[in-house]
Amino acid sequence: MTVPALRELHGVGPQLAASLGQLDIHTVQDLLFHLPFRYEDRTRIHPIGSLYPGAQVQVEGEVQHSAIVRARRSMLVIVLSDGTGHITLRFFHFRAAQKQQLSRGTRLRCYGEVRTGFQGLEMVHPSYKRILNEPDEALSDRLTPVYPSVEGLGQARWLKLSDQALALLEQHSLVLEELLPEDLRGKLRMMSLEAAIHYIHRPPAGADVAALVERRHPAQQRLALEELLAHNLSMQQLHQRQRRFRAPVMDRISVLEGDFIRHLPFSLTAAQERVIDEIHRDLALRHPMQRLVQGDVGSGKTVVAAMAALRAMGNGYQTAITAPTELLAEQHLRSFTEWLKPMNMKPTWLSGKVTGKARQAALKAIREGVPLVIGTHALMQEGVQFGQLGLVIVDEQHRFGVHQRLSLLDKASETSLHAHQLIMTATPIPRTLAMTAYAGLETSVIGELPPGRKPVTTVAISNSRRNEVIARVAAACAQGKQAYWVCTLIEESDVVQAQAAQDVALELQTGLSGVCVGLIHGRMKAVDKQEIMDRFKQGGIQLLVATTVIEVGVDVPNASLMIIENAERLGLAQLHQLRGRVGRGEQQASCVLMYNPPIGPLARQRLDILRKTSDGFQIAEKDLELRGPGEVLGTRQTGMLQFRVADLARDRHLLEQIPPVADRLSRENPEQVEKLVRRWIGDSTRFAGV
Ligand code: ADP
Ligand code: MG
Repeated sequence: MTVPALRELHGVGPQLAASLGQLDIHTVQDLLFHLPFRYEDRTRIHPIGSLYPGAQVQVEGEVQHSAIVRARRSMLVIVLSDGTGHITLRFFHFRAAQKQQLSRGTRLRCYGEVRTGFQGLEMVHPSYKRILNEPDEALSDRLTPVYPSVEGLGQARWLKLSDQALALLEQHSLVLEELLPEDLRGKLRMMSLEAAIHYIHRPPAGADVAALVERRHPAQQRLALEELLAHNLSMQQLHQRQRRFRAPVMDRISVLEGDFIRHLPFSLTAAQERVIDEIHRDLALRHPMQRLVQGDVGSGKTVVAAMAALRAMGNGYQTAITAPTELLAEQHLRSFTEWLKPMNMKPTWLSGKVTGKARQAALKAIREGVPLVIGTHALMQEGVQFGQLGLVIVDEQHRFGVHQRLSLLDKASETSLHAHQLIMTATPIPRTLAMTAYAGLETSVIGELPPGRKPVTTVAISNSRRNEVIARVAAACAQGKQAYWVCTLIEESDVVQAQAAQDVALELQTGLSGVCVGLIHGRMKAVDKQEIMDRFKQGGIQLLVATTVIEVGVDVPNASLMIIENAERLGLAQLHQLRGRVGRGEQQASCVLMYNPPIGPLARQRLDILRKTSDGFQIAEKDLELRGPGEVLGTRQTGMLQFRVADLARDRHLLEQIPPVADRLSRENPEQVEKLVRRWIGDSTRFAGV
């Protein structure tokens, strides 16, 4: 038996079909997945005498009085009474016939919100129904759903449509196939899909409306679980598809690696060694590595990246290292230039700002197979051709959307052999989130900071004590220490940010005679930024005033004081990143979070968390709690991780169950996996930008 098409439903003509199309509803299944966002309780009638302002209720009574009142504009005013009291009904839009219909003596059943008017309680534009035939018309025994809609599509239509869809669901099991095996549902204590859908569209009287509205009800949780599962499975599929490709086998240990380690001024931490080992083992395999390295700020990820690159070089393959900002990419360029010097090698630089002849030369060198190319993420997106690309390293990936990551992955596979891929994230990703957003990636954690690091002492200080803070900077600089002063403006243009930083730099230079103040912001030319960073690194500049361009990756170990202005406006992850710029050397470092009172409870909570902990994982978990996952992953704009029912913060308890269930389905019910992904995600390859 075939499932009827949407157009076969009663009342669905071309026009309605077009309106539904606007909501992405094309099938009966889509209609069933179009869920109410609130409910009205029309299962009961409230005595008018018991009403109070704010209540959303149904009342029934007799029209006592009906008149058109002419104030600034005319309105129809009706007084309804049921013997326990009376209430005024007001209609600003009405037809002449309505006045006729609602004449004195008519019985009305109304639903609306009660509020206080000039003459006692009233309802404005309640929905109503005339009760014509005795005995009384039956009350609904279900809550009335209210659906998200578009212009011209009223709730009555939605009710008719969903009634039909629900009836079909009862008749044909194929309308909405159950994709979770029964025993699995039993184990998870999840209701069947059909029961869940029925419940959500037509909850019984007395259902927990608060839970339904917040989508915490077991019926909705059943759908949320399925959706999360589908996301997890689709990510796994993507990565599995990658795994089927061939990658260069890099099994030769290169002498470069030993040379590099001998020249380092420190020895690797056990965590770094372990992660390098994990990467090297992956590189020796014949399918592309897809590994995520998580390491807190300052844990030493760059050295790990270098050891991966050296392995590729030693095996005759190119490595591309990309970073999200110019500043950070430039810093990598400098580190790697330094590190490669003893081996007589030097990285090739390519960013959007390299133009003309220099660009042509760089592109040619890359095509001819230079061993190491460093640049911004644009490097992988602008059709640059590599001669022998073997490894792509994406640094500080969290500032980047999942979507872009997948398109990088795609790009990396344009040659016949697919490049290995290493992703490095600075902000640790909460485990629960990683399970969904990074499902299918191998993960390494650098869970240890280099020895001797002391946690950064953090205080929150009101901007009204700015002079004390400036005095503190003066004292630090007098002792030969270096400091950052970060000016933050949210959602302002680069120009405005740069201007603000300039003003602050001027203010500080005036207030701090004898201290050399430098300025860096996103609108400066790369060479100028580099010069300032160099001077800061060498100690010529003692106080560096900066915009948030320094947020990620910047590494000047002698800097030990961090001042962050307007800290109350920033998110936890960003504050943690900024603070991570200090505390990289042997000295005790400190961080001053300056805020403009009064600040809200959320902002206060964020500052408190930062004062109390420096553990990136803990901070990330809190961040997820306070802000929600889109912002934690920086995927708000990319459209990825936009769920229809699920919510990563609210449904965190479900996430725990996802991996084992996904495993079991992949093993035992592969055909269900396909269907789940198609139901919730559509064609999963669309995320890869294909
Ligand atoms: P992140 O993980 O934040 O990218 P970096 O790679 O920038 O960290 O390293 C932070 C600082 O720690 C750098 O100055 C780096 O040279 C130094 N570093 C890295 N590994 C070690 C180590 N094992 N011992 C001491 N210092 C280290
Ligand atoms: Mg880094």
